[in-house]
Amino acid sequence: MQLRALRRLTLAVFVFVFGLAATPASLSGQGSSFNPALPLTHVDNGPNSAWAQRQHYLILVSLDGFRWDYAKRENATHLLALGKRGVWAPEGMMPSYPSLTFPNHFTIVTGLYPEHHGIVANSFLDAARGARYSYTEPQTATDGSWYSGVPIWSLAESHGMRTACMLWPGSEAKIAGFRPSYYAQFDAKTQSTPEAQQARIDDTVALLHLAAEDRPHFIAIYFSEPDHEGHEFGPDARETRAAELKMDAIIGRLEVALKGTALPIDVVIVSDHGMVKSEGDWINLDQFADLTGFEVTGALLYGKTEEDRARVYEQLKHATSQFMVFRLKNVPANLNFNSNAREGDPVVVATGPYALRAHAPPAGSADHPPQTGMHGFDPHILPEMKASFFAAGPDLAQGKTVGPFDNVNLYPWMAHMLGLDPAKNDGSLNILAGTLRDNGVAPQK
Ligand SMILES: [Zn+2]
Repeated sequence: MQLRALRRLTLAVFVFVFGLAATPASLSGQGSSFNPALPLTHVDNGPNSAWAQRQHYLILVSLDGFRWDYAKRENATHLLALGKRGVWAPEGMMPSYPSLTFPNHFTIVTGLYPEHHGIVANSFLDAARGARYSYTEPQTATDGSWYSGVPIWSLAESHGMRTACMLWPGSEAKIAGFRPSYYAQFDAKTQSTPEAQQARIDDTVALLHLAAEDRPHFIAIYFSEPDHEGHEFGPDARETRAAELKMDAIIGRLEVALKGTALPIDVVIVSDHGMVKSEGDWINLDQFADLTGFEVTGALLYGKTEEDRARVYEQLKHATSQFMVFRLKNVPANLNFNSNAREGDPVVVATGPYALRAHAPPAGSADHPPQTGMHGFDPHILPEMKASFFAAGPDLAQGKTVGPFDNVNLYPWMAHMLGLDPAKNDGSLNILAGTLRDNGVAPQK
């Protein structure tokens, strides 16, 4: 299916169209020009409704792999000041299992555990569909049929409220009937350049300078650092620590830029997961079990017959103390990872920072040692997996802290700030209600 009906336009056309509709001043001038380093695609979902125009604005920023304790450790002044002015989680936020990038970003915007929104890993098999999903494969990552739930941008768009996403995982797909009104396309080669990082700020400000009927009220922004450095050098390395401070400086610049708009903006800064130094070499599951007939993706195991699944479960059960193995339906409830066939069966869960995979690459093809820093682990076993949470703005209490909470609770909380009725989700507004100025009890705006 192609997108003619959506009237998908390039940035150039977008500027042209709005240039005619809006006053030229709204698209130029200091701090309000779109930055070509991160081109935005416009989907014409119509103007903001009169109701939407009366609502506040919410900017959601993710710093990939920004571990819960990094801000304190580096004395990240902008993040800490934002948290002290508003609310923050000094002991971190609990990521959903597995503590990986795509599952958690989509949990944050849907309030659903990965097994309920369907992105159970960065890459996985859907045997019933006979296809594999991979976050690096645009064909699947931008195909909405892989995703369940109602991301907050689709929720807002369905209520006549315009939204924008800059590289948020899942935001290039049409999900629950909508794409964001404005979105950027992920390009691994260019997305982390200083120009593209600055462009997230410039484009946000430019969007907020659009006329009130076109201006997005929800903007999600994704940054891939300091995850990259954490993997390559480890969470404690000089390079990773420098990346943490660089991201803190970007948050500082974003705040100054937002202040210049004089709009009522709630700013929410989160990360998807933490980082831990990995231990030891690869653990290949096929050294303990005969995986003949299994399809595999990483350490996910897809047995074709009940006999195969039961056999491999028995073979892995007492193999080593470095992982636990469960039949899918018996995975402990606190992992919320026992009801979706995409999770495989049996399910292997590491008991420490160990690099698990089904097989080594075939003889003759290149192998590489495990990355220095890793994530994906159970945050109840490895607290290094905990994520960051800071927020401040007109809808938020001042000077409040919260204990570690599951990231599914962000969705009903953000929906409340935007005046939206959340779609069905796994979170509860009660968990974060105390961080809201209205304690979460005000009638819908
Ligand atoms: Zn990562």
